[in-house]
Amino acid sequence: MDEKMHTGSCLCGAVRFRTRGSLRGVIFCHCGQCRRQSGHFVAATNVADERIVIEGGDAITWYAASNEAKRGFCSRCGSLLFWKHGALDSVSVMAGAFDKPTGLFAECHIFVADKGDYYSIDDGLPQHARSTDKIVVAED
Ligand SMILES: [Zn+2]
Ligand SMILES: [Zn+2]
Repeated sequence: MDEKMHTGSCLCGAVRFRTRGSLRGVIFCHCGQCRRQSGHFVAATNVADERIVIEGGDAITWYAASNEAKRGFCSRCGSLLFWKHGALDSVSVMAGAFDKPTGLFAECHIFVADKGDYYSIDDGLPQHARSTDKIVVAED
């Protein structure tokens, strides 16, 4: 198997995906939308649209939390899977959905200004009050 192939699924297995190529570091998003939808905060990598194959897409509900982006989750088991910005040709994929060993690594925190008030962030990773233009898609 290509070492840069990654696979994953929702909790019930109705939705499966596989990606090709390197994946960006995992970014933790503490914004209000991610907090509410995930129940805590979101941890996600991303991949170019052309490098991901999704099976069981019929089971995905896409919720448009804003005019810019929609959030994909499994209609059957509720697993949060994807975040898709309409103007970008990439999709964020939730880190927890990947099969182990994921090969993923933690990168930074964003929207820490909006984080919940019941936990602290003390892992030493960079923290951004809002988003950051350092968020890119892995190239190779
Ligand atoms: Zn599911
Ligand atoms: Zn967020």
